[in-house]
Amino acid sequence: MRDISKEGWRGVWAVAECHEGCLMPVSLELVSKARELADKLQTEATAVVFGHGISGAVCDTLMEYGAHVVQLVEHEALAVFRDDVFARVLTGLILSKRPEIVLAPATYTGKAYMPRVQTMLETGLTAGCLELDIRSDDRVLIQTRAAWGGNLFVNIVCPDARPQLVTVSPNVMIARRVVAEGRVERPEVPFEWLKSGMEVTESVHEKQDEAVRLTKADVVVVAGRGIEKRENLKLLQELADALGGAVGATRAITDLGWLPEYTQIGQTGVTVSPRLCITFGVSGAVQHTVGLRNIDILVAVNKDPAAPIFEMATYGIVADVNKILPVLLEQVKKIRCKSPA
Ligand SMILES: Cc1cc2nc3c(=O)[nH]c(=O)nc-3n(C[C@H](O)[C@H](O)[C@H](O)COP(=O)(O)OP(=O)(O)OC[C@H]3O[C@@H](n4cnc5c(N)ncnc54)[C@H](O)[C@@H]3O)c2cc1C
Repeated sequence: MRDISKEGWRGVWAVAECHEGCLMPVSLELVSKARELADKLQTEATAVVFGHGISGAVCDTLMEYGAHVVQLVEHEALAVFRDDVFARVLTGLILSKRPEIVLAPATYTGKAYMPRVQTMLETGLTAGCLELDIRSDDRVLIQTRAAWGGNLFVNIVCPDARPQLVTVSPNVMIARRVVAEGRVERPEVPFEWLKSGMEVTESVHEKQDEAVRLTKADVVVVAGRGIEKRENLKLLQELADALGGAVGATRAITDLGWLPEYTQIGQTGVTVSPRLCITFGVSGAVQHTVGLRNIDILVAVNKDPAAPIFEMATYGIVADVNKILPVLLEQVKKIRCKSPA
């Protein structure tokens, strides 16, 4: 690792994520956290946003959630995501402005460009942080994440190199409005930074849209290995549809190829925070449950009364999925039919 003097590195950045000009909710969570850390460090919080056709409303929103400064880089070369270009532009800006901390989303895109940024800057990167705080005596960022297969939570620090880079999953931090008082800066970026070694031939939106739908859903129905049969997924989808929700999965299910990878909830998947979550045949391994955050009501169905999922469940149902799922689905459908439109 490069030995960089810590002097002259000031400020906390949050990299915002926009899809076709629309700000993704994780951006507000990150900018709020950046503001909280910046206040502790008595420095400025900056939101960085790249793209093409980004409206003034996006910058206003970032300021409403805590950005003192919005660094807006707009260019048609940034309309489509290419990790080499995003990484080069972000690295170039970091080297010119020298923030001490940079938070980026642990999304498909953030996970693609941040390792490149880390390599170019020769500093540390902690992926998938669940909590962040400042060590008051030396401005060091305490980066909490799951480790050792998720069985432990560890605090990681990067005491000698700057900047301190982290990624944070959507739904982990809380977005908070403040009194907006920011300014927008539009740094010029050299043409060479925008050159890519990749050619994007097609953008597939469906997957991203579905993944976003899962992370935003108010109701999530989770399939675990205990559903036993692939046919049961159809019933789970019907249940989710009847409740106006989405289907998520444990790694056991995505590894089997029964559901796409983007439905995986947990340490190496997405984080969800629905009001109601119903798990079927999920044991409750910590690598999965770290992805269940701020849930109002968790209902767990498992045939083993000792399954760890019951320790965190609001309501536990000790039953065989094959027996209870059709009954539950029928009851929910009946209630739905009776409810006024
Ligand atoms: C580094 C690392 C990262 C990981 N990341 C993730 C991650 O992001 N997400 C994730 O989900 N996992 C992750 N895992 C895997 C995780 O450790 C677990 O193996 C996984 O979550 C287990 O999935 P499961 O609960 O579906 O299956 P199991 O642990 O096999 O549990 C199945 C459960 O179903 C119950 N059951 C069986 N039959 C029935 C029935 N007929 N009716 C009712 N209940 C029944 C059983 O009692 C059991 O409790 C990770 C592991 C590692 C090492």
